[in-house]
Amino acid sequence: MSGIVSKFGGTSMQDALCIKRSAELCLKRKSNIVVVSATAGTTNDLIKLGEVSEKNQLVEAKGLLQKIEQKHLQIATELGLADSYVKQVQLLLSEMDSISRGISLLQDCSAKARDVLVSLGERLSSVLFTGALEQKAVGQKVQLLDVRTVLKTDDTFGRARPLVSEIAKRCESLIKDLNSVIYVTQGFIGQTLNGATTTLGRGGSDYSAALLAEGIQADVLEIWTDVAGVSSTDPRIAPEAVVIDEISFKEMSELATFGAKVLHPATLLPAIRQNIPVLVASSFEPEKPGTWVRREVKNLPLIRALALRKKQTLVTLSTPEMLHSHGFLYQLFKVFNDHRISIDAITTSEISVSVTIDNADTLSQQVISDLEKVADVQIEKDLSLISLIGNNINHTPGLAKKIFETIADVNVRMICYGASRHNFCFLVDESHGVSVIQKLHQKFITNS
Ligand code: ASP
Ligand code: MG
Repeated sequence: MSGIVSKFGGTSMQDALCIKRSAELCLKRKSNIVVVSATAGTTNDLIKLGEVSEKNQLVEAKGLLQKIEQKHLQIATELGLADSYVKQVQLLLSEMDSISRGISLLQDCSAKARDVLVSLGERLSSVLFTGALEQKAVGQKVQLLDVRTVLKTDDTFGRARPLVSEIAKRCESLIKDLNSVIYVTQGFIGQTLNGATTTLGRGGSDYSAALLAEGIQADVLEIWTDVAGVSSTDPRIAPEAVVIDEISFKEMSELATFGAKVLHPATLLPAIRQNIPVLVASSFEPEKPGTWVRREVKNLPLIRALALRKKQTLVTLSTPEMLHSHGFLYQLFKVFNDHRISIDAITTSEISVSVTIDNADTLSQQVISDLEKVADVQIEKDLSLISLIGNNINHTPGLAKKIFETIADVNVRMICYGASRHNFCFLVDESHGVSVIQKLHQKFITNS
């Protein structure tokens, strides 16, 4: 198979005007599969709805139900959708009502129940989009596809993992008419083999689109968002940041993992597996070229981009028993593994190991006491991880000197250097994060 998979994020779906613009764009781009996010803010509202329903706060729940209902019905009206679509929207809204009531009665919003509730965001927006696209796609067939029939996952509710070979099988049997049909489907949501609705984690629609692109062996994956591509750093931090025209898969993987919000970090895995080029561009300014992410790129600058990741936690584990012994790292990492905690950067000395963790909430008392069985534990919070991303980083003499000269007045808590050709990262106190990025951007991007 082949084709173009285009994904539209929440802001590209936020109102009737944006939906129309996005629909026109998919016709222009000749998209074969269109993957949509929930309308902007709706996933947050649905999560809140789950919370207030669980606490039986009926007034708040009613407020949210009405907000979501009005928003979607208004878009349907403004788009002038046919009755059949309005009815589908109403059916989904009444499902939302029932689920919220069920959660209130049980006063229990499990991760499984929450996934069903939040799935409504994408299910609603995909109906609106199908209707809008059908109006414009004269002479072309548009079909709404329930992605749950295709995107099979395990049962880790809230953060489900895709079953890649199951997805490939179903793409082949269910997405057959790529030549004559434009399929519109939902991002973010999936289904277990037993039929339970799951979600892939916040921001997961990019990942869904990539999985479908892999499933149909697409020629191109397009991620349409509200910024004109991937920037050399967050322009809100450094206004002189520039949009990157081309970046390699390897660099982009580091950039997405270490802070750039523009792509969900897992998106590139399927694209890399199938070598599918990814375009990141703005549906608001589609004439701008955007950023291409691909295996081979022409330019390989030493530093292409900088990322800032806030709220990092540094866990330092030390014990003299590590001296000349073996198996210590294994024991430590086993604790992190048993608790399914993801570690980002690591440094070690002979008797201690420091690791950074993105989500401090995962560091429960249980984790800490399990770690304490193996080593002394020291925890430092409110740090920022600074990453420089580019090429040949660990084979370039003088780079570290240049970096630390530029920020000579800042205390650096931990440095990770050497493991990657594409990344140099270190931790600083949160209060220095922004100015460090500004100075390094000036030095390595603006003045280079
Ligand atoms: N609607 C989901 C979220 O807000 C998924 C996505 O937008 O990618 O997280
Ligand atoms: Mg999104």
